Amino acid sequence: MSEKLMTEIHKLDDKGIAKAAKLLRKGETVSFPTETVYGLGADATSDTAVAKIYEAKGRPSFNPLIVHVPNIKSVEKYAILSLMGQKLADTFWPGALTLVLKLKPNSKISKLVSAGLDTVAIRMPAHGGARDLLRASDLPIAAPSANASGKLSPSEALHVKQSLDGRIPLILDGGACAVGLESTIIDVSGDQPALLRPGGVAAEAIEAMLGCKLLRADTDDTAPKSPGMLSSHYAPVSKIRLNAEDVQNDETLIGFGNVKNANLNLSENGDTTEAAANLFRILHEADKIASGKIAISPIPNAGLGLAINDRLKRAAAPRPNE
Ligand code: AMP
Ligand code: MG
Repeated sequence: MSEKLMTEIHKLDDKGIAKAAKLLRKGETVSFPTETVYGLGADATSDTAVAKIYEAKGRPSFNPLIVHVPNIKSVEKYAILSLMGQKLADTFWPGALTLVLKLKPNSKISKLVSAGLDTVAIRMPAHGGARDLLRASDLPIAAPSANASGKLSPSEALHVKQSLDGRIPLILDGGACAVGLESTIIDVSGDQPALLRPGGVAAEAIEAMLGCKLLRADTDDTAPKSPGMLSSHYAPVSKIRLNAEDVQNDETLIGFGNVKNANLNLSENGDTTEAAANLFRILHEADKIASGKIAISPIPNAGLGLAINDRLKRAAAPRPNE
């Protein structure tokens, strides 16, 4: 954890928004209200800014985050809006609906946001203050709920303060959130739309609009096994060996700290926040240059090391067809 911050609560007015936008552009985190819950936002195009979200929340694992945008134009900058996605956006945006879309090739969205996947979850919020902040910062903002890991989602600024005091610089206070429920998440990146999480927009309303049933992993046995769950974990093609103190000839070594013969390094300074920021980018790079085997130096279970090790353990686990 980096040094303790003073957490300011500022009213959600022009001055507060200007302050928040400036912090976001500097790569800091800011909590702001949306119509669902208070989010903890950061520049979705910056690996280090997104790593700060995980650091502040103390999340023990990396789940992909929802990116908030002010308009359709900014969706199209980063992702491919499928025909179904377009229809849903036309009907339900702005609002409590999140769409999982294919990332554009070379999209500037941080790989930490999508946890290394080739899809990204995007939402256009309806909350006036959230929209003002998106416009003022001129950034796509990655934002999970603004609570410490394992705590309830906050629907008031005071809840955020109680949970994250000293860990973030600013909370914009816009009063209580109207919906208080999380957004509905629909995956429209494939051929058939799938409900990944029920939420503020009813699944029936979405089915009526699309004129077809949504795949539901929880109730539908014939549905491909939990599309959301399965696809929400990126796994490299190469075999992964963890806690490697040495490296074999046929391995590509990802180092952590002062490792002389590393091909790539998560953080030469041994900083777990920097390593988290680099994690998915470096895994992708290693997968490209490796001839099938990747070794990774030990990473301490401190700070974001816990979440990094959690993700690496899953990446190293045998695949179902092995
Ligand atoms: P939260 O930010 O706490 O509202 O949670 C975000 C939810 O969106 C999590 O359940 C993620 O698994 C899901 N999510 C985000 N991005 C993706 C994605 N690319 N594919 C599948 N699920 C996603
Ligand atoms: Mg949450």
